[in-house]
Amino acid sequence: MTGIDREELRQQFASDNYAGICPEAWQAAEAANRGHSTAYGDDPWTGRAADAFRTLFETDCEVYFVFNGTAANSLALASLCQSYHGVICCDQSHVETDECGAPEFFSNGSKLLVASSANGKLTPDAVRELATKRQDIHYPKPRAVTITQSTETGRVYSLDELRAISAVCKTHGLWLHMDGARFANACASLGCPPAELTWKSGVDVLCFGGTKNGMAVGEAVLFFDRTLAADFDYRCKQAGQLASKMRFLSAPWVGMLESGAWLRNARHANECARRFAAQIAEIPGVRLAQPVEANAVFVSASEEILQQLRRRGWRFYTFIGGAARFMFAWDTDPLRLDAFCRDLKECALQVQ
Ligand SMILES: *Cc1c(COP(=O)(O)O)cnc(C)c1O
Repeated sequence: MTGIDREELRQQFASDNYAGICPEAWQAAEAANRGHSTAYGDDPWTGRAADAFRTLFETDCEVYFVFNGTAANSLALASLCQSYHGVICCDQSHVETDECGAPEFFSNGSKLLVASSANGKLTPDAVRELATKRQDIHYPKPRAVTITQSTETGRVYSLDELRAISAVCKTHGLWLHMDGARFANACASLGCPPAELTWKSGVDVLCFGGTKNGMAVGEAVLFFDRTLAADFDYRCKQAGQLASKMRFLSAPWVGMLESGAWLRNARHANECARRFAAQIAEIPGVRLAQPVEANAVFVSASEEILQQLRRRGWRFYTFIGGAARFMFAWDTDPLRLDAFCRDLKECALQVQ
């Protein structure tokens, strides 16, 4: 291939979706590309991917494949709610800040009921407060709770935290949805089987992210309570989320799940985050803005330091959580990471 500047191809840590496709996903797509197959999900790869999820989650759940996380979250929430319902979420959640109103749109108006939080996590108290705040006809009726695991702020809900939230959901008749764009990173962080982190702890629907885990595209929607999936196939089709060549969304999942790459990839990304955090501890004028629990590192540093870093060609975002965010992926090269740390240290010492 020509025409792409080599500098453009160098690793950056601005987002985990800057990374490419991991070999396991790529090879499975290549295998699915040998010959013809039936369309719209009625193919052997899609069946095999759904079965791989059932094996991994140790339960006979309903599984659907959609193109991206916004669609997965919005359509899953829409299937839990009527238009007059409310969905309790955290103020830093992707559904609230990064989905352009899609959850409200696809549910025909279910309102997001937003809890403020210091660290991007929803608490049982916040859920209880929003669930019981109003019971009159003039306010949307709370019907679901959505939490992100791992969170937009790089935090992980422990099993106890999760169970405490789901207990409140049960008390108040609320479905529990999990945005798992980085679910694999949470599993790797807690060393916990996926079943424990979901249906065994009261999660009703999971959107399991493939893109940030090493796939080109695609998220899986898992309904642990199968009745909640009624007509979900129609919902996907109407929303433009039914892939005609579905095998290219599903085959990569076969590669990821059957080989264990989903967990290896997440472990590697988390390890890189810890490696970065350890180096930060020794740099003056720079500190962690959040504890490092998954594959994200949020760094507080002066604007001068950040400017110097940008001048050296490093990219990162500062609009999430009020600090500079660095994300690590399945392919993060530890040497490139160390080079970044050296630059950060030099920048920090320069502005001292
Ligand atoms: C990336 C991400 C998504 C999915 O975003 P899309 O761009 O729609 O694929 C969903 N939730 C969280 C927390 C994310 O970080």
